[in-house]
Amino acid sequence: MSRASSAIDQQRLWDRHMAIAQFGATGRGGVNRQALTEEDGQARATLAGWATARGFDLYVDDAANLFVRRNGTEADAPAILSGSHLDTQPAGGNFDGIYGVLSAFEVLEALDDAGIGHKRPIEAVVWTNEEGCRYAPGCTGSMVFSGKHSIDEFLDNTAPDGSVLRDDLARTIAMTPDAQRRAPGIPVAGYIETHIEQGPRLEAAGLTVGAVTGIQGGSSFEVIVTGEEGHAGTVPLKQRRDAFRSAMAMVDALYEETADPEDTVRFTIGRFQAYPGSPNTIPGEVRFTIDFRHPDAAFFAATVKRIGEICQANAGPCGVEVNTRHVGAPADFDETVIASIERIAGELDIPAMRMASGADHDAKLMVPLCPTGMIFVPCAQGISHNEAEMADATDLAAGARVLADALLEMANR
Ligand SMILES: [Zn+2]
Repeated sequence: MSRASSAIDQQRLWDRHMAIAQFGATGRGGVNRQALTEEDGQARATLAGWATARGFDLYVDDAANLFVRRNGTEADAPAILSGSHLDTQPAGGNFDGIYGVLSAFEVLEALDDAGIGHKRPIEAVVWTNEEGCRYAPGCTGSMVFSGKHSIDEFLDNTAPDGSVLRDDLARTIAMTPDAQRRAPGIPVAGYIETHIEQGPRLEAAGLTVGAVTGIQGGSSFEVIVTGEEGHAGTVPLKQRRDAFRSAMAMVDALYEETADPEDTVRFTIGRFQAYPGSPNTIPGEVRFTIDFRHPDAAFFAATVKRIGEICQANAGPCGVEVNTRHVGAPADFDETVIASIERIAGELDIPAMRMASGADHDAKLMVPLCPTGMIFVPCAQGISHNEAEMADATDLAAGARVLADALLEMANR
């Protein structure tokens, strides 16, 4: 009996990556294919062309999420979904997101080639705007699909170039005219997303597949410290309300709070700006950002609470305002899905380990809807969100083989 995995075509999967890589190619090995741009639309249209040539059904929803469907014998059964995103960062690579879409599509083709049927329908999905760099928020498409938000909430959002989401959605949807329109959020019975790891752990361990246990919690804040501007030469130190100095005390205390001998905490101050920014004026205002992430729900929640308290406690003579931009609790994947990925990798002699995801993914939005999991494959030196992002064709195929057998099992359950 042939397994779905044995029909995975490594060369075809690689060639598809290189074909999609043309859309938004920078000429330096990477791509700039931000969400809902002309290039994003062209990539989707190309996938849609491959799908219709195969005779698969195509659907698109109000958030421009695109679905390639291989029907099952039970036409009305909730579907098994697999996919990721085709949009990239402004200086992005050829694998982040793309791999999840193309490996899911490869599974559909492999099942077709091998003449393997299944009970439930299986759909390869392109989620809209995972990256969130052109339009906020990221994961727009999967958020709308999950029912967490309505697309109406985002339609007036604008990109830095002045484009409006409403118009870009309409234009992008029109670029896949063969796709039938359907309402967001069909019933789903399972979801697996493949993705490059975007970190160095698999490569360092010499392993090919990560059975992802969940996605760590993430939070971001903007801190505004208010002091008083004054002449650098005349105002005595004791009388100053120096916003920079208070901000530094906060930053010191925050680094101390988040010090972690196990190195699991991810804490970043990525932007720090002093105003008015004159060399001989005492800063009257400082704005800085905090990005904090952790996989443990209790520790995550406690530290999120502590961040505001620490800033207040170290404000000194200044005022401080801590604005929460985003708090997303950790999401645990389904144990049966994790275990099946591990077991299938073992059966296929593909070396694997369990690991948590450091980055956010569309899969997180699927957790409340259905049994969900992810498969990671290595990327060279863990580099991602970078034009130098690179993955090995045999690793990509190995992940797709695990995906094929895992999806088929789900689709026959
Ligand atoms: Zn991604």
